[in-house]
Amino acid sequence: TNTAEKFEFQAEVNQVLDLVIHSLYSNKEIFLRELISNASDACDKLRFEAIKNPALLAEDLNIKVDFDSEAKTVTITDNGIGMTRDEVIANIGTIANSGTKKYLESIAKKDRDDANLIGQFGVGFYASFIVADEVEIRTLKAGEPADQAISWKSDGKSAYTLESIGKTTQGTEIILHLRDEESEFADNFRLRSLIKKYSEHVAFPIKMLEVTYPEKDDDGNEIPAKTPEYEVVNDATALWKKAPSDIKDEDYQAFYKQISNDFSDAAFWTHNHIEGTQSYSNLLYVPSKSPFAMYQNPEDREGLKLFIKRVFIMDAAKELLPNYLRFVKGVVDSNDLPLNVSREILQDNPLLQKIKSGLVKRVLGLLKKKALDTDVYATFWKEFGDTLKEGVVEDFANREAVLKLLRFASTENKDATENVTLEDYISRMKDGQDKIYYITGESYEAVKNSPHLELFKKEGVEVLLMHSRIDEWMMGHVQEFEGKKFQSVAKGKLDLGQEDKKEKEPSEADKSFLEKIQTHLKDHVSEVTASTRLVDSASCLVMDEHAMAIHMQKLMEQAGQ
Ligand code: ADP
Ligand code: MG
Repeated sequence: TNTAEKFEFQAEVNQVLDLVIHSLYSNKEIFLRELISNASDACDKLRFEAIKNPALLAEDLNIKVDFDSEAKTVTITDNGIGMTRDEVIANIGTIANSGTKKYLESIAKKDRDDANLIGQFGVGFYASFIVADEVEIRTLKAGEPADQAISWKSDGKSAYTLESIGKTTQGTEIILHLRDEESEFADNFRLRSLIKKYSEHVAFPIKMLEVTYPEKDDDGNEIPAKTPEYEVVNDATALWKKAPSDIKDEDYQAFYKQISNDFSDAAFWTHNHIEGTQSYSNLLYVPSKSPFAMYQNPEDREGLKLFIKRVFIMDAAKELLPNYLRFVKGVVDSNDLPLNVSREILQDNPLLQKIKSGLVKRVLGLLKKKALDTDVYATFWKEFGDTLKEGVVEDFANREAVLKLLRFASTENKDATENVTLEDYISRMKDGQDKIYYITGESYEAVKNSPHLELFKKEGVEVLLMHSRIDEWMMGHVQEFEGKKFQSVAKGKLDLGQEDKKEKEPSEADKSFLEKIQTHLKDHVSEVTASTRLVDSASCLVMDEHAMAIHMQKLMEQAGQ
């Protein structure tokens, strides 16, 4: 006989459970997607293990969804990898992901849309408790004897029990005992439509029992309904292997949500089948919003999945794309890589290096194309511009291409809009000007009002206004673009390239110039005057009390206010 052993949840688990149940309540139907996604992962893992140990793959991998409307249960069954007792404890009863803690802290600040973030932290399973007041996991690890099967049960409050059970089939069964008010989910039509909506492109068959009705024989007598059989509800093919012309936008979006854990639509994507010395397929998405986790730890990034001949091998974001393109999500499926690759082998595999440089070109090409649509690109730029800038330093081979994708604020614009390209800048350069002038600082206001700009305004020479955290670092690593040197207006000797044309300005122009500056800076300086004391400098800032207050304010902001 078995006795159930009782365990307490980690403190973090309790917090996550609370958070999941409350923040996802309005989106509760996603519980099914989360559980199917786990079942699909489990099938992927088994298929991968079976490369080394074919005996593990006893039957076709699939996922079954059953329900009992009277008992108010929904059951999700897979014949994938399963879990040992230790794995159940490690994977379900604890939160291993280091990002989760930081996430919980940030939630307190409430500055982001909770629902869009929650999936990024491996809390997917807990979505069960949005609709269920009791959940049971019954699981047997593939390759283990039946007496190793284990049951995990919890009401999602603070504890769970573990118990040995008899289960002869490998894989996992998740039984949800629905809350009274959620019994609508124990319904054939409802479940089928949710599978269609969220899990259509899971690459394993998702099966439900067919619906059967009593029939009548020739004499009009009812004959009992035949025993229903399982039928496949989803498309169950690898979307990325299809021809792009056969795929609708909504299919691409549904697949994106499936692989990315993102609840919002992707912004855009590129999908290609590459043939030649290397043959592979790629489907790469750019999200519409930058995920919270991206800035926490770039090393932890996920979202680019490596398949080899349709077998999922691993999350291989780092091996497939450089750091500065870490916002890209998607799938790469190679026909040439050996199936028994390890991460170590991957890193120095020349085939993979070729794929990687091909993918970088794809993404940069996609961005170049999307840049033609100003609105779409402006949104992209706002979310990922700073990340892309890292590429100027990180990716020497593509530096020119990355530089062309950058957008800057400029003295030519009336406001802080970042829409000026380096090519725009060069096309507007004055006769004899041979440098790209820029200024860096902590805010748009600060750089726009810098006294260093006055000479440039006077001469009508454009200056790029850079004020993101990364700009100073980036500009420290780049010398020129298309043969034009970058020059900070705040550093070194200034030479506008027009030295010989300079002449003494008539005082009338001086006056109007000063007036212009005065109107331009009216919120920031009380007075602009001509000075005869300045020789080498174009101007200087004389602080009065008011200016000092602004300065103090900035210092306080920097100190973390
Ligand atoms: P994630 O899927 O992001 O890792 P989840 O909360 O959805 O987070 O699942 C936690 C872990 O529990 C999974 O990583 C996996 O190890 C394990 N798990 C969940 N469901 C299954 C299943 N059906 N088969 C095997 N392992 C599972
Ligand atoms: Mg999951």
